[in-house]
Amino acid sequence: MKILLTNTLTRKKEAFEPITPGRAGIYTCGLTVYNYAHIGNLRAYVFSDVLKRVFLYNNYEVKHVMNITDVGHLTSDDDEGEDKLEAGARREGKSVWEIVEYYTRAFLEDMKALNIIKPDVLCRATDHIEDMIDMIGKIEANGYTYVAGGNVYFDTSKLKDYGKLAGLKRDEEAARSRVEADPYKRNPFDFVLWFTRYKYHNHAMQWDSPWGRGFPGWHIECSAMSSKYLGERFDIHTGGIDHVPIHHTNEIAQSEAAFGHEWVNYWLHNEFLIIGNDEKMSKSLGNFIRLQNLVNQGYDPLDYRYYLLGAHYRKKLAFSLEALDAAKNAMKRIRTKVAEIKTVESEQYDSDAFDKMNRSFLEAVNDDLNTPKALAVLWRVLDSEQLSSSTKLKTAEEFDRVLGLKLVDTKEVEVPEEVLLLAEERLNARRARNWEKADKLRDKIIKLGYEIMDRKDGYEIRRS
Ligand code: AMP
Ligand code: ZN
Repeated sequence: MKILLTNTLTRKKEAFEPITPGRAGIYTCGLTVYNYAHIGNLRAYVFSDVLKRVFLYNNYEVKHVMNITDVGHLTSDDDEGEDKLEAGARREGKSVWEIVEYYTRAFLEDMKALNIIKPDVLCRATDHIEDMIDMIGKIEANGYTYVAGGNVYFDTSKLKDYGKLAGLKRDEEAARSRVEADPYKRNPFDFVLWFTRYKYHNHAMQWDSPWGRGFPGWHIECSAMSSKYLGERFDIHTGGIDHVPIHHTNEIAQSEAAFGHEWVNYWLHNEFLIIGNDEKMSKSLGNFIRLQNLVNQGYDPLDYRYYLLGAHYRKKLAFSLEALDAAKNAMKRIRTKVAEIKTVESEQYDSDAFDKMNRSFLEAVNDDLNTPKALAVLWRVLDSEQLSSSTKLKTAEEFDRVLGLKLVDTKEVEVPEEVLLLAEERLNARRARNWEKADKLRDKIIKLGYEIMDRKDGYEIRRS
C-alpha cells in the first residue's frame, strides 16, 4: 500500500516514492537547547516519531537523523537579536556548555517519556563546525555569497527559485525589510552563513574559519548535517510550520546552491499547539508548559502522546486540561480493556480478522498519518464482541508499533520501590489466603497512586 504524504513543497498530497527502494531517509530539525522543550515543541517530535514508525510498519528501512541546535540560533529567526544559547547562559549564570548539556539531557528524557524512538543519528551542531565551513566554502565557490561588515551572507538574488517552499514572492521583500534590519544585507531575504561581527560582546562559542574567527549562522547546520548523514539528495525533512518561510527556505537555498541540484523530495510540517486565544505556545511568549508540569499534575506522558494522536498533525491543536483529561481517561480505559483481555484464557487467534483490521489501520496511517482514524480502528478492535481475546491482543500489539502508547506492555511502567514492596507483601498475603491483609495492602497501594491487578500467579501494577 502506498504511503501518502502532504508535501509543503508541492502543496499536494503525494504517494511517497523513495530514492532507494525500501529505504527512507528522514531528517528532523531538533531542539534549540537553551531551555526546556515545551509541549508544543514536543508535538513536532511525536509527529516525526509517528512518521518514522509508519515507515517501519510498512517494512521500510529507516534512517532517522535529528540535530541538536547548540549554536547560532538568534532570538529572531531572521539573524537579529542575541544568540539564544548565550542568553540562556546569562539568565542562569552558567556557561553556554553547561546550558547545552543540561537542556539536551532534559530533552532526551522528555523524548523517552513520550516513547519517541531515539533517532539513529543525533548530531550536535557544535560537533560539525568543520562540515559547515566546508559547505559554506562550496556555496562561495559556486558564487552565491558575499562578505559584508565581517559576515558571510547568502545572496538570495542569485537563486531563481528562492522561496519556493513557502511560495514567497519578491514583492513581499518590502514587508520583510524592517527598520532595524541589518544594513549590510544586499537584499532583505539574504541571511548569514558565518558571523564574525556580532553585536553582543564576548560570544563564547567561536571557531576559526577562512572568513575569520566566529560562529555559523543557524540554517547552515541542518544543511550540513543532514547531507552528511543522509546524502546530498534525501527523502524527507520535517519540522514545525514556523520553519517554512525562513529556516527551511534558507536550508533549501544554501543546499541547492552548494550541490547544484534539488535537495529534499518531501517537506512535512506539523501545525502548532496553541494555547489561550489562538496563541502559539512559545518560550519567547512565556506561555509555555513543560511535560514535567503535566506529570506533576498527575498525567502520564503517554496521556499527552494519546492526546496528540487524537488530532491530525496538520491541524492546529488548542491545548486544554479538559482535553488532556479526556485522553487520560481514554488511556485508562484502554489499559483496563487490555488487562481484561489478558485475563481471558487464550482463545483461537484469527489471522483473517487481524488482516482485515490491520488493513483499515494501514489505510488510516498511510493516508498522511491519519492518527485520529487509526485510534478509531483501535477502539473498534478493543470494543469488538466478535474478535477473540488473542486476536485483540495481537492486533493492539501490532498497532502499537505505530501508536507507541505501550498498550500491551504494562511491565515497562516504572513503579517505585515502596509500591513494589507492598505488592510483594500482598502477593504473600494472597498466597496465605489472608484476604483481609491483601485488601488493606491494596488500599495502601491505591493511596500511593497505583492500581494492582491480580494475575494467575502474580500481579500487574500501573499508575491509576
Ligand atoms: P526550536 O527549538 O525553536 O527550533 O523548536 C523546535 C521544534 O518545535 C521546531 O520544529 C518548531 O517548529 C516546533 N515548534 C515550536 N513551537 C511549536 C508549537 N507551539 N507547536 C508545535 N510545534 C512547535
Ligand atoms: Zn533545522
